[in-house]
Amino acid sequence: MNDTPIPDTAAPSAADLDASDPLARFRDEFELPEGIYLVGNSLGPLPRAARDHVEAELQRWGNLGAAGHDTGEMAWEHYHELLTAPLARLVGAEPHEVVAMNSLTVNLHMLMVSFYRPTPDRHKILIEQHAFPSDHFAAESQIRQRGFDPATSLVLIGPRKGEDTLRHSDILAAIAEHGDQLALVLLPGVQYYTGQVLPVADITAAGHAVGATVGFDLAHSAGNVALNLHDWGVDFAAWCTYKYLNGGPGAVAAAFVHERHVADQALPKFLGWWGTNKATRFEMTSEFDAIPTAESWQVSNGPILMMAALRASLEMFDDAGGVAALRHKSERQIEFFDRRLAESLGDRVENITPAAMAERGCQLSLRVTAGDGRRVFADLTEAGVFCDWRHPDVIRVASVPLYNTFADIDRFVGMLDGIVT
Ligand SMILES: *Cc1c(COP(=O)(O)O)cnc(C)c1O
Repeated sequence: MNDTPIPDTAAPSAADLDASDPLARFRDEFELPEGIYLVGNSLGPLPRAARDHVEAELQRWGNLGAAGHDTGEMAWEHYHELLTAPLARLVGAEPHEVVAMNSLTVNLHMLMVSFYRPTPDRHKILIEQHAFPSDHFAAESQIRQRGFDPATSLVLIGPRKGEDTLRHSDILAAIAEHGDQLALVLLPGVQYYTGQVLPVADITAAGHAVGATVGFDLAHSAGNVALNLHDWGVDFAAWCTYKYLNGGPGAVAAAFVHERHVADQALPKFLGWWGTNKATRFEMTSEFDAIPTAESWQVSNGPILMMAALRASLEMFDDAGGVAALRHKSERQIEFFDRRLAESLGDRVENITPAAMAERGCQLSLRVTAGDGRRVFADLTEAGVFCDWRHPDVIRVASVPLYNTFADIDRFVGMLDGIVT
């Protein structure tokens, strides 16, 4: 044996990989800003077709005025229904389990009204120690709202000292430990800071085993990794659509409620006129007749222009073959990203995202070990790279299979190599 490493001439180049990418055509369906766009985990770029879909609704508004509510196939009264099936496909749900409404944090609150039902014995909510602040605030304020104290009712689970990601066994142990005091487990499908994918099915089973309800924030999961919310028995979930789903700034969010709960009249719920029977809604009575689907959680008529924009992206997800096809490409991009970083940066940069494919989506969370990470981030931005900085020390980059190329990854790594000293 000879110790000299043999260059891996078989490893394909970015150009080879792009040339053989069956999804390559979708990049042209987006308007991408000048530079290298690697921040789709924060705000997806503009699908070209969104302009047409939004323009069509502006036209209908101009031409029909109030009659737009009940005229034609696209009647605004039913417009949200156009989003239901495509959103359900993305998360492995049945259409009657999903609704597009509100924004993400609002949906977390609306769902906690139904699914956080504390009693003096069972009142705890388990979240992550480094939860996205909005999720933390939502859980904390729900606890106070019901007359409990976050000091005794909010359970925080974090990585071990010196570690960046959560150990599955620690999450499951915490659920078992708080057992019959645990009312709700509320965790992310993908952790926003580290990009770690959590085992949604196992967490759901563990929560149910102790009698808790289990909900997920899928802001960084929907459109990124495969989900099977229905089969996994998740009680509820919510996600925004402006990240991997390219719905645009402030886009309408989505909510999932498992089939076994959708028609449960005993669940407490905040009501509004958009949750009542569509056939009798305009009789304007004060009898609430819940729609027997997730739609009964709707309180208001929906944001038509934002829903129109989102349709453009959801059509592309279906056209591309759904999350399974996109994830297939995503895994190739992740492998390529890892390989290029290892070749060019070595240990000057650490990726705190788990290495195992099953535990990561398309985001990499990079920590600069050689030099000042914040300066590196500023230089990358200056050089035209769209990425983001997350306090205290991570640069997040996401290669999104719907529109990023292998060449984007290659160029980014080249730039990073030039910037990190
Ligand atoms: C992006 C994100 C949010 C943002 O909440 P909005 O209500 O959409 O402003 C909340 N939680 C998580 C985990 C997120 O990733």
